[in-house]
Amino acid sequence: MPDSPPTIAVAIPVFNEEAVLPELFARLSALFAANPDYRWRAVLVDDGSRDRSAELLRAQSARDPRFEAIELSRNFGFQAALSAGLAHASEADAVVTMDADLQDPPEVIPALVAAWRGGAEVVRASRRSRRETGLRRMGFDLFHRVFGRLSDYPIEPNTGTFGLLGRAAVETYNTLPERHRFFPGLRAWIGFPTADVLYDRQERAAGKPQQTFRRLVRYALDGVFSFSHLPLRMLTYAGVFVAFMGFAGGLFFILWRLLGFENSQQGFTTLVTLVLFLGGVQLVGIGVLGEYLGRMYDEVKQRPLYVLKHRAPSAPRPSPTLARD
Ligand code: UDP
Ligand code: MG
Repeated sequence: MPDSPPTIAVAIPVFNEEAVLPELFARLSALFAANPDYRWRAVLVDDGSRDRSAELLRAQSARDPRFEAIELSRNFGFQAALSAGLAHASEADAVVTMDADLQDPPEVIPALVAAWRGGAEVVRASRRSRRETGLRRMGFDLFHRVFGRLSDYPIEPNTGTFGLLGRAAVETYNTLPERHRFFPGLRAWIGFPTADVLYDRQERAAGKPQQTFRRLVRYALDGVFSFSHLPLRMLTYAGVFVAFMGFAGGLFFILWRLLGFENSQQGFTTLVTLVLFLGGVQLVGIGVLGEYLGRMYDEVKQRPLYVLKHRAPSAPRPSPTLARD
């Protein structure tokens, strides 16, 4: 760790958050003022907001250059926006990752920093309580159960994006080439000494959730398929099982005939059931293959994760700039 005051950046993806931004700026400024032992930066990534978020970010950056406003050319989604934030904060000594909606209270950041100073390269903020209810809550719980079973790199069920990465972890994260990203999974994958800090997850300060349920399902699938080959292996097992049943069945009927029993004319139901069952297994198999193949196609295309439109305070560089990370 450096001797001069370490720089700590806070990377925050922002999408249609005009209602919470003023409070976010105020609380971050208060945090910066209360912890003068560090040099603070906030890297706010506007993920193609359709409200006044981008304007508010630029205004804040003009008022206080510790706030950086990075604007993407359109909505690329939370994971891409977060990656943009991490890419632009890479020269900081540590980067805090959090949501804009103040569900992750900035007041927890000093505890994250303390854990980092205590030697952890990766610090996860772990929810003591969760405020979501209903379908979202059930979805989160189901995902964590499935992911925990499948993934070769399990994640803590009570952790999300909120946390801190030391510089080595950030640099490692930034070198990961994949397009389909699932932050908590990748954070588990990169390793390094890890610590947990407990906190109470808050209600959204204002506005409504910006991640659609569909997006969350997509990230959940990314989480499973990018971190496990088990679905493919399960297909192999299913294939072996069905083939074995077929073989055993065939053998049984041959013996049946050889022993002189009559071949029954019945069995229509059995036939239909078997045909539908096998057809179903095969289609599921093709679907699972498709999940992997589609992801491979996206990786092979090598498109950048996001496209930058504007940066403030601006470093003079041609625009639009293709992200290289
Ligand atoms: N977000 C984003 N791009 C999107 C959707 C959301 O950058 O396409 C941001 C959003 O502004 C917030 C964070 O991602 O800072 C988490 O979103 P949200 O609170 O809607 O999700 P949830 O709390 O349900 O996970
Ligand atoms: Mg939220």
